Amino acid sequence: MNRMGINQGTSGNASCRVEGGFLVTASGVPYEKMTPAHIVFMDLGGNYTGSYMPSSEWRMHYDIYKSVPEAAAVVHAHPTYCTALSALHRNIPAFHYMVAAAGGKEIHCAEYATFGTQALSDSMLTAFGSRRSALLANHGMICHGPNLDKALWLANETECLAKQFITALATGSPPVVLPDDEMEVMLAKFKTYGKQPSQLTALSDFERRHAISAPPRLEATAGGAGGGGPGCDAPLPFLEQRNKVIETCLAMNRMGINQGTSGNASCRVEGGFLVTASGVPYEKMTPAHIVFMDLGGNYTGSYMPSSEWRMHYDIYKSVPEAAAVVHAHPTYCTALSALHRNIPAFHYMVAAAGGKEIHCAEYATFGTQALSDSMLTAFGSRRSALLANHGMICHGPNLDKALWLANETECLAKQFITALATGSPPVVLPDDEMEVMLAKFK
Ligand SMILES: [Zn+2]
Ligand SMILES: [Zn+2]
Repeated sequence: MNRMGINQGTSGNASCRVEGGFLVTASGVPYEKMTPAHIVFMDLGGNYTGSYMPSSEWRMHYDIYKSVPEAAAVVHAHPTYCTALSALHRNIPAFHYMVAAAGGKEIHCAEYATFGTQALSDSMLTAFGSRRSALLANHGMICHGPNLDKALWLANETECLAKQFITALATGSPPVVLPDDEMEVMLAKFKTYGKQPSQLTALSDFERRHAISAPPRLEATAGGAGGGGPGCDAPLPFLEQRNKVIETCLAMNRMGINQGTSGNASCRVEGGFLVTASGVPYEKMTPAHIVFMDLGGNYTGSYMPSSEWRMHYDIYKSVPEAAAVVHAHPTYCTALSALHRNIPAFHYMVAAAGGKEIHCAEYATFGTQALSDSMLTAFGSRRSALLANHGMICHGPNLDKALWLANETECLAKQFITALATGSPPVVLPDDEMEVMLAKFK
């Protein structure tokens, strides 16, 4: 939480369910001084043992474990953007499809009540409903999950969404909210999101119809392009390129253009391309997590490719000079995408993407052919595009250049939104000047 920047001082706290009760952080101990003895056991009668008092907010944790059987971990914090929205008593609406990752069509803000009281627990549970994340008015946010990793992921994702939403609002215009029936589809999709096939449980017909569509899998032959599955001694082909994809992902984290596991990267290799696997955190990626796909759209190996493999695939099929693709949901590009706005020629560097504007592709459901089609339309002859209510994508002649352009697009989006936040629209460069720029960028 400290590393992610979602905790402020000692205001955050975390817990997990154990046999007979749960473990929660002690009151007022700075995280960097915590030892296992500072983690307090509480039983489900609300009694604690040991010499340290639990966090003054133990009651919210306790009431989640009592009321939500599937909750096995809770994360509570006062991160900047969630707390700012909570002070406005605002929900996070469906301005981005990732809102569905919290289990509903909106993330609700619980009514204000004094911290540590039963009244706060009650208003928190009302705000949750069947969702796993909520804001707490004039206070912060809280979420739960099936384990600490997933609860932490959701806390960070909630803060990312709050930041994107506030950034969009800073332009003075409200973001476009996705329709109800699209969010129904998203809720179905999130049952299968970020999961490898072995992790999928029973799905309803509607959920199966909208499941993340995995491409066909080919058996890896010894020394074949996929190679290197469990029990296979053959060396991984394209090892150098696999490492370069991982390096690019880690650089996305360092640059702050990736949020959670929402970004993905790929590069063209002989006979196809290499793309990041679905739902594997970048810092845990090994070369075996980089999936080979051929240009027939089949993958090999034991990991499923990113749920967004189709955009990569369609770029390699349609754009001969594209040799690398970077996709992410960085804050400012995502905020503009939620406003369905292009980046105009307010700065000459817009021409670095190969055109006089950077276009925003029309909204389509992630992972679908419709999204690939609208992305290709938005590209035209350009190398970077926004994706409505989603994020950005770009390609280049190699991973370094694609990463550079992804970061440059986010810098331009940030500069443009910062100019809009003054209340006046920035001056746009004339067409003939942008023609000169396009010539210069060759
Ligand atoms: Zn608090
Ligand atoms: Zn995406």
